[in-house]
Amino acid sequence: MRCIIQRAEVLDGAHLMQILWHDGIESFYPAIWLRDNCQCSNCYLDSAKARKLLIEGLDVNIGIKELTFDRKKVYITWPDEHCSEFEADWLKKRCFSQQARAKLQRELFLP
Ligand SMILES: [Zn+2]
Repeated sequence: MRCIIQRAEVLDGAHLMQILWHDGIESFYPAIWLRDNCQCSNCYLDSAKARKLLIEGLDVNIGIKELTFDRKKVYITWPDEHCSEFEADWLKKRCFSQQARAKLQRELFLP
């Protein structure tokens, strides 16, 4: 299925991204999760090598500085001017259910 982004916006004081899909379904993605899953070649290679280290090095309060989107992609700029791009299909596959979000919260914020 091809996923089309109707709207993307930043919520919760920049800590959460909301996507409204063309079919009316909404998905939420925590900013820190997006930062950790940046798909650019730099971050991707780093995280494959030292994933744990990367998470420890991340600021859990990281926020999204700038968010733009088109039908197929979102573009995020971080406070350190790093840019991330996420494909709509990639995001849709990783859409957080309540259960998945609770698990993520536990892993990230309650070590
Ligand atoms: Zn990156």
